[in-house]
Amino acid sequence: MKKYLALLLAAIMALSLAACASTAKTDAAASASGKLTMATEATFQPYEYYDGDAIVGIDVEVAQAIADKLGMELEVTDIAFDSIIPGVQTGKYDMGMAGMTVNEERLEQVNFSDSYSTGIQVVIVKEGGKVQSLDDMGADGVVIGTQSGTTGFTYASSDFGDEKVKAFTKTTDAVAALINGQVDCVMLDNEPAKALVAANADAGLSILDTAYTVEDYAIAINKDNNDLLTKVNAALAELKADGTLQGIIDKYIK
Ligand code: GLN
Repeated sequence: MKKYLALLLAAIMALSLAACASTAKTDAAASASGKLTMATEATFQPYEYYDGDAIVGIDVEVAQAIADKLGMELEVTDIAFDSIIPGVQTGKYDMGMAGMTVNEERLEQVNFSDSYSTGIQVVIVKEGGKVQSLDDMGADGVVIGTQSGTTGFTYASSDFGDEKVKAFTKTTDAVAALINGQVDCVMLDNEPAKALVAANADAGLSILDTAYTVEDYAIAINKDNNDLLTKVNAALAELKADGTLQGIIDKYIK
């Protein structure tokens, strides 16, 4: 009996030590990671773009609201769009937020939060250019501009062939290439497309309607960081329920 009691006591001690250790670990992790690091690509107005030196937009404001709820300090880094998922996978950034569409291929690489917004692929064309309708996009010699690593790039290359598609690091560079005749159209998401057409008002640009389906935007998080995924989804649910999320979107999309 004594032996069992001793064993039981030992087991209780071991358990409570383990509990202490894990509490200590969680506290240390929380204070060490008071920063919430977010990778984005800031030529994607109204989701992320520069206002002077500051990166602003829907994604930045939503991320800030999430960071506030988690009691963390948000740090935003502007990198190439196709480096965001690798950066989240290696743990360089806690999350990727860049008007990023949820799709099967990406779901193999990262987890996604619940969706907070949507987008549709559209095509920007130039007055007097080779592409004036969707049918023209398949014509010989047509070059389609896209942003590297985006769903626009994937759609354009699978629908019209890799050889017709030219990828740029920034959406602004793709549109500059359309203006100076290097490409004949640019495929990208509808809201940034509108912003880029408006920003180049005298360049004769316009947007064709496409039949591409609505895409869900969500936050990319490392597959091993379920703790952050749970917290981000809880924060998003609150921001949706109290109208904060819609308020942010309405501020930028009229
Ligand atoms: N929604 C598109 C994608 O996820 C484009 C995103 C972007 O260019 N920032 O690929």
